[in-house]
Amino acid sequence: MSNVKTSQTQQQFIYPDMKFMGWLDTSQFLGYLNGTRNYGQDLKLWIRGNRMMALENTNPANATWASMAIEHFQFAADGDYAEAGNCVKTRLRMYVDQWLASGFDANGLEEPQKRHLLPEHSTPNSDLTTFLNRWLSTHHPQATVFATGEIRQQYSRRTEVTRDNAVSPIQDANDELARELIYYLQSPLKWTLTRCANAKCGHYYVRRRPRALYKSPTYCSACRRSATARLAMDRKRAGERHASLDAAAIAFNRWPTLSDSTRRRYRSDERAYITQAVRRFGISRTWVSRNLSEIERVAGGSNHATRKS
Ligand SMILES: [Zn+2]
Repeated sequence: MSNVKTSQTQQQFIYPDMKFMGWLDTSQFLGYLNGTRNYGQDLKLWIRGNRMMALENTNPANATWASMAIEHFQFAADGDYAEAGNCVKTRLRMYVDQWLASGFDANGLEEPQKRHLLPEHSTPNSDLTTFLNRWLSTHHPQATVFATGEIRQQYSRRTEVTRDNAVSPIQDANDELARELIYYLQSPLKWTLTRCANAKCGHYYVRRRPRALYKSPTYCSACRRSATARLAMDRKRAGERHASLDAAAIAFNRWPTLSDSTRRRYRSDERAYITQAVRRFGISRTWVSRNLSEIERVAGGSNHATRKS
């Protein structure tokens, strides 16, 4: 019972009222951020779909729209779509990173619900408030009443289809960027999205069980898994090294006690004798030579018969 209550409190704390606006397509948003999805390709498909619809239109009532849409939905050069895709990825990361950074204090302590928009996290050219305010002054949402009584606002793509408003892929990318960021900032993801602290990874992911406070860096599930695997491997290697040093130390201590005939079998080569004693660990003579002082140290401190020299 108390558990339920705690999680509800936490839920309310982390997700205050978020009802007034629409739907962030989480997988699309994460895809653009992580580079697994390309806006340029999505845009090209969208234009192709609209163009096909206009070309195949047989309804006389839509004839005017269709003739304008055929003009409007023209393909651009492939390079322009590539540039548009790149623009969305790069700038989305830039703005999202600023937003995520605002939740950290100087000591690396993270409180996601303290994330905010302030110029201190950006240069004037990369200020998200300025970018969104400028975009919003010319793009207005469509508001729709839902059966629940909620009013949701949506920003649609290229609302006006006219002959004279040819739109370049870069312009489309800029609009998409603004829409993605607006929906992001109106969704719970604004608090639950985070970026893997492993600098070589930097994967963006959503925290399934968000906490109010993070005292140490957090990692994506892939990095967490590989860290666990690495730790297990380190332990195994440490264990193997321990066992091989032990075996080498026993051989080291035994060498002076061997009969002359046994020694002759090893051509009186002590290291050859130690090497055969640790062969089962896949260890070479070079390893024995390199670790001789360590073997001696273990041999001196071990419980096996001490070496008579
Ligand atoms: Zn990672």
